[in-house]
Amino acid sequence: MAPYLRQIDRSRMYSNQGPLVTALQKRLAARFELADGSVVAASSGTAALVAAILAHAGPARPERPYAICPAYTFVATAAAVSQCGYEPYLADVSPETWTLDPDRLAEHPMLDRVGVVVPVCAYGRPLDVEGWARFQHATGIRVVIDAAAAVEALADGKMHGDARVPLALSFHATKAFGCGEGGCVVWPDPALAARTMQATNFGFMGSRNSQGASLNGKMSEYHAAVALAELDGWAGKRADFDRSTRAYRAAFLHEGLPSGDLVVHPQIASNYILYRCTDPARAEDLRRVLEESGIEARFWYGGGMHMHDHLREARRDALPVTEDLSRTLLGLPMGSRMAAADIARVVSALAAARGRVQSVEIPSVRTLPAIA
Ligand SMILES: *Cc1c(COP(=O)(O)O)cnc(C)c1O
Repeated sequence: MAPYLRQIDRSRMYSNQGPLVTALQKRLAARFELADGSVVAASSGTAALVAAILAHAGPARPERPYAICPAYTFVATAAAVSQCGYEPYLADVSPETWTLDPDRLAEHPMLDRVGVVVPVCAYGRPLDVEGWARFQHATGIRVVIDAAAAVEALADGKMHGDARVPLALSFHATKAFGCGEGGCVVWPDPALAARTMQATNFGFMGSRNSQGASLNGKMSEYHAAVALAELDGWAGKRADFDRSTRAYRAAFLHEGLPSGDLVVHPQIASNYILYRCTDPARAEDLRRVLEESGIEARFWYGGGMHMHDHLREARRDALPVTEDLSRTLLGLPMGSRMAAADIARVVSALAAARGRVQSVEIPSVRTLPAIA
């Protein structure tokens, strides 16, 4: 980071739209094989999502108060739509994609009261951007994709930026590409990307006149310095993540655990390792027994968004798939520099915990449907 920090001292620009943020936006656009001007940096993934919603769908209107969100996601998705004045409406996810299904949602009875739909790349899984652009065209409802954890899917060409539908990414420290706190909107249409930048900057564009709903969601030069350094070292970090993933696979083999129960990169983003349990009660038992050994495993998306105190009253559909996924996909510890010995210890504790929480062998779960 030091060279970038020195650059900040030389330019004496510390806040927004300075040379480092500009350089980061350029390099990310190139990395995603998009035209210059397609990437707008933001102060967090949530800020990126708010700005993209404001720029694309606008704030909620009385006749369309709802934003449809998947019930299976990190709570930031609902927080972002609320910031834009929408009431989150929680819909169930597809068991194949772990997020909303555009064809199923096109039949939803609530659509005439909905102002925006926010599908999520669950655990960074790429999703069908083209299908959502078709949904948007057919229904007239704007779509903004919460692609917070999907930076690899974009960088690896498994998902593409689309001028019709903005994507919001997070650079939080827990994600595969991190700068502490940060994010960006990917929107390969210069005018729309500019509108997003305006939304992150009080609605200002070339003057001190606020021209639209907005927030202060700008990335600082300091965070851009971290992100640029992260980009410089990203190939190495990704190789480290790969090593950790392979160590998990090897440890599963060593402990005689079914490898089909492990969900890892490239099925999901490399900052996650998921252990797929057959039923919720056993998954929670496993989590607790691991905790007793000093190992934190977590249900990343809690019990679904409807289980958060703040969202208990949110309108929602029946959520059987969310109920199943949220309580059976257990996140194991993962890090790019996690030592193989630590991974072996986690997996050995998991194997022992399995032995403790049931007398009969857990049957191997259904295999994850193939990802297109
Ligand atoms: C991480 C994450 C966010 C929030 O990103 P921040 O950078 O922490 O604001 C939003 N949605 C999903 C699905 C995430 O995983």
